Amino acid sequence: MSARTLLGLHPAARDDIGNLVTRRPLPGPGLDQVDPFLFLNHHGPQSYPPGNAGLPFGPHPHRGFETVTFILEGELAHLDSGGHESVIRAGGVQWMTAGRGLVHAEISPDSFKRAGGPLEILQLWVNLPGRLKMVDPAYTGLQRGEIPVLDLDGAQVELIAGAWGDREGPVTSLTGVMMSVLRLAPGARLAAPAPAGRNVFLYVARGSVAIGGKSVPQFHLATVSDDADAVEMAAEAESVVLFGHAEPCREPVVAHGPFVMNTREEIMQAMRDYQAGKFGGL
Ligand code: FE
Repeated sequence: MSARTLLGLHPAARDDIGNLVTRRPLPGPGLDQVDPFLFLNHHGPQSYPPGNAGLPFGPHPHRGFETVTFILEGELAHLDSGGHESVIRAGGVQWMTAGRGLVHAEISPDSFKRAGGPLEILQLWVNLPGRLKMVDPAYTGLQRGEIPVLDLDGAQVELIAGAWGDREGPVTSLTGVMMSVLRLAPGARLAAPAPAGRNVFLYVARGSVAIGGKSVPQFHLATVSDDADAVEMAAEAESVVLFGHAEPCREPVVAHGPFVMNTREEIMQAMRDYQAGKFGGL
């Protein structure tokens, strides 16, 4: 395996939502998307006091893409108009296909509001190509124990979707997305497979990693070249990295709030369908 090179560093911009500490590396200045990866919100790390109001994400719609939510600390209660309901705890992940449309709520369970505690949650939006934007909605919630862990000499790979060598994650995405959470001990070295032709998503949530001798610090997204089939990284501290890759859609992206479509007309249609109650309710 030869190694891809570091092309760019993209620091997250701070954009708190009320009391919820929020950073967003994607989209950002000079980086509209890492096709098909569109958007990343990093909430926390922070500590909620006892008797808190919880997360502010009450019922709202989505159409045309998928959300992948990583719960590093705390808990996340999810319910949607497809009838899915779950509480995912620290170390778990949820993978939701909005497809033709659903309404969901992403809130804190009563136990968390009562007791408070640490919270750190990241949400990634993954685009769907036009041919899949109107698929049926779907939801998979995985607790920590349901995610396989590959132990690679100081690096733990929590494999959520797609393939890493001969291992497969529990989620089979509609578009073959590979997604993982890397937990790296200080000094750990890792060659992460990233087949040529696929775009790499790499975000340092905690710690710092070096790629080709250049640091990618905490709260930074890195872009890499597409001239080799692996990303080699060395942990400069104890680190947590979101790492994935996917085939780009190479289609126009027209995004408006919670809808991501190919054309302006499809956005207007999504708004009409939502107002007409076609996304269902909670
Ligand atoms: Fe949402």
